[in-house]
Amino acid sequence: MQTKENIDKIFEYLKELFPNPKCELNYSTAFELLIAVILSAQCTDKRVNSVTPKLFEVYPTAKDLAQADIAQVEDIIRSLGFFRNKAKSIVNCAKQLIEQFDGQVPNDVEKLQKLSGVGRKTANVVTAEVFGANNIGVDTHIFRVSHRLGLSDGKTPLLVEKDLLKQLQGRQLNIDHYLLVLFGRYHCKAVKPNCKECKLKSICLYYKNNF
Ligand code: SF4
Repeated sequence: MQTKENIDKIFEYLKELFPNPKCELNYSTAFELLIAVILSAQCTDKRVNSVTPKLFEVYPTAKDLAQADIAQVEDIIRSLGFFRNKAKSIVNCAKQLIEQFDGQVPNDVEKLQKLSGVGRKTANVVTAEVFGANNIGVDTHIFRVSHRLGLSDGKTPLLVEKDLLKQLQGRQLNIDHYLLVLFGRYHCKAVKPNCKECKLKSICLYYKNNF
């Protein structure tokens, strides 16, 4: 675990690297964001952004997607990994939104997690991004960076989430979340992290153990 002083240092540096941290998935409504995040499982945001304009043009609302022909949805999202499962998930999710929430995306992590294709990470990301909730969705980047920087030694995303909620108490998690994601995506990459130019070397566990 890190000291408060080191945590401030980490986020000051991340803010210096990424002064305008934000979601890299394109969307214009809560419904679109929810669908885009479901589609982003094991897939880059860039790739998701290449199929969603067409998808949301044909199915702009939960009602439209709930009535969709699965084969047609599959055709639109075919370039994504696991497109068949994802097509089923998003159509079922849209049906559940209509049946249970009048077509609206609920501002509730537990309720969101009951929707098709929605796990804890997706529910946290959507509530933080759309409703400003102080949640943190632990994806592969946040999981890795948190371990490297000594913010958590949790073995599962849920344990890392719990550690981060403790370690980052009082901070704006919906912003810190994107700082950690962007740092992991572009700087502290899984393979060949840019340690040479990193200002966090002195407090980084990974650097201490590998160099
Ligand atoms: S020193 Fe390397 S591993 Fe540590 S945070 Fe910086 S880039 Fe990541």
